[in-house]
Amino acid sequence: MSAVPLQQDVEAGVERVRESIARACQRAGRDPGTVTLVAISKGQPVEAVRAANAAGLRHFGENRIQEAVPKTEAAKAAGVEATWHLVGHLQSNKAKAAASSFDVIHSVDSLKLLARLDGAAPAPRDVLLQVNIAAEPQKQGVAADEVAALVEAAREAANLRLRGLMTIAPIAADPEDVRPVFRDLRELAERFALTDLSMGMTDDFEVAIEEGATLVRVGRAIFGERTT
Ligand SMILES: *Cc1c(COP(=O)(O)O)cnc(C)c1O
Repeated sequence: MSAVPLQQDVEAGVERVRESIARACQRAGRDPGTVTLVAISKGQPVEAVRAANAAGLRHFGENRIQEAVPKTEAAKAAGVEATWHLVGHLQSNKAKAAASSFDVIHSVDSLKLLARLDGAAPAPRDVLLQVNIAAEPQKQGVAADEVAALVEAAREAANLRLRGLMTIAPIAADPEDVRPVFRDLRELAERFALTDLSMGMTDDFEVAIEEGATLVRVGRAIFGERTT
């Protein structure tokens, strides 16, 4: 675990990110209320979650089940009321653990996982389909042409509410370079009348918002560099 970030540093990070979100919304003519900031607390101790919660954040994201399950429980015990998002790869044999600890699962990328989640969810869960929109080798997510089958299955699932699409953009020196990736995800979501777009991280969330992101997943800009 990394060192505990100071409350004042987390507050300053949250403030900076909020200002950047507001500026990006202004450029795009969007209402900032349509963008949900999901604070990615992976690699951070539960105290960091508490600090961000005290600074007004209500959405937290984690990428690994093993790390997240005890953290979500500790956060709840510490009085943090939050919506928890799973943003990392999920193996179908961990679907049950994921469905009980997380409210929103961004990383659905197979029919098998979809079926497992549907069967395991103790209550209806929100899901997004992860798309490897840039078709990068060895990257998680389904290909764009596989989305239709997953959309159909997700819409038939009794315990899942299909919210939208998620992508992780390629690493780029200039965030402008990934703008076409975000645009392609938006167009794909529009084709299926899906409203949510989970895209944009510390290095590229402003561009993602300009291209329609409704969920931005931001870690380092809030908590500082991860040391783990
Ligand atoms: C770690 C992670 C993030 C946040 O990344 P930062 O660069 O720290 O903002 C967002 N999405 C996913 C899927 C991640 O694994």
